[in-house]
Amino acid sequence: MPSSSPTLQAKKRIVLVAHDNKKKDLLDWVRFNRLTLLEHDLMATGTTGRLIEDELGIDIERFMSGPLGGDQQIGAAIAEGKIDVMIFFWDPLEAQPHDPDVKALLRIAVVWNLPIACNRSTADFLISSPLLGEPYERQRPTHERYLDRTVEVD
Ligand code: PGA
Repeated sequence: MPSSSPTLQAKKRIVLVAHDNKKKDLLDWVRFNRLTLLEHDLMATGTTGRLIEDELGIDIERFMSGPLGGDQQIGAAIAEGKIDVMIFFWDPLEAQPHDPDVKALLRIAVVWNLPIACNRSTADFLISSPLLGEPYERQRPTHERYLDRTVEVD
């Protein structure tokens, strides 16, 4: 079943995730970009989300904590067309107990051609893009061969 429309509205649905060693980095970035972020709908994994709520003084939609399934919930939401942008500060220097989920989340975000930022400079470029505050026609993934394929079974 194809997902919902690829057109992103001017008000974006932005999901934020940070591994433990990267949470301070993400919170600094959130603080610096507070006014821009408040113009959009924010979502996050459990612990990251609680920190962002404290920082911004607002309630945001929170998924479960990443290691408990939050990354998978976000992946499903991306496939269902419910997320427009992902800021994911994952830790390249420490193994994560939920490494398969991290990989799956990054994969599905690329499948659906989602704008993603995995470090601060990319996040800076993304948040200062004029496209963030405008409608944007996101190209659909070429997934027809997965929808239509037939598999021969004996
Ligand atoms: P957390 O999850 O925000 O609950 O710490 C993040 C993650 O590890 O994916």
